[in-house]
Amino acid sequence: MDRLKREGLGMTSQRTRNRLIQRLREEGITNETVLDVMASTPRHLFLDEALAVRAYEDTSLPIGYGQTISQPYIVARMTELLLSRAKSLHRVLEVGTGSGYQTAILARLVDNLYSVERIGPLLDKARRRMRELGLYNVELRLSSGGFGWPDKGPYDAILAAAAPASVPAELKEQLAPNGVLVLPIGSDRQHLTIVSRRDDSEQFDVERLEAVRFVPLLGGVVR
Ligand code: SAH
Repeated sequence: MDRLKREGLGMTSQRTRNRLIQRLREEGITNETVLDVMASTPRHLFLDEALAVRAYEDTSLPIGYGQTISQPYIVARMTELLLSRAKSLHRVLEVGTGSGYQTAILARLVDNLYSVERIGPLLDKARRRMRELGLYNVELRLSSGGFGWPDKGPYDAILAAAAPASVPAELKEQLAPNGVLVLPIGSDRQHLTIVSRRDDSEQFDVERLEAVRFVPLLGGVVR
């Protein structure tokens, strides 16, 4: 089905999107800025044609290469945490661009966004979507095989959309003074976790929140 027809049938209409926002409210998302940005970001543009009709369901969906676009609730929750905890949002890093959906949401809320992805074809698609949506404050890069993007740091905030078994030292090192890292941690059982750098010290506070399910954070690059 082509895009116009789909929109005509209302499957990707503003009304459909607003129903998702209502659902996010019911699930406990309260930050109006986050809800506004999500209401005006077309998630169907981040999915392949065949799955676009399901874009406004509150669920993760496949994007190829064994990866998934994050569930809207999780995107909202992590973004809300980032906004409430970070002292500044001047330089922000995302690890795991995937479809670029979370990237697009963050780009509208921070000054400079850097995002790394280890799967080349996913990154290429995400890059096209950023251009289509006119989001020019985002720099995307194919992962170097390590974690994060040290050259562009340090970052006021880092958000990772893939789960390591424990907090990677490289990501902690890329935090600016008082910087915060929001990520899922764990292998079998994962928890949303906030790691914050205490002032400009080498001390970090770790806070474990609710149980979540993410794809694993992996090393290496797929071209
Ligand atoms: N927020 C994204 C989620 C994508 S899933 C979205 O909504 O589309 C997580 C992504 O992290 C996957 O695309 C995976 O390839 C990527 N990833 C896993 N380990 C990585 C690493 N070390 N560096 C960069 N990206 C990584």
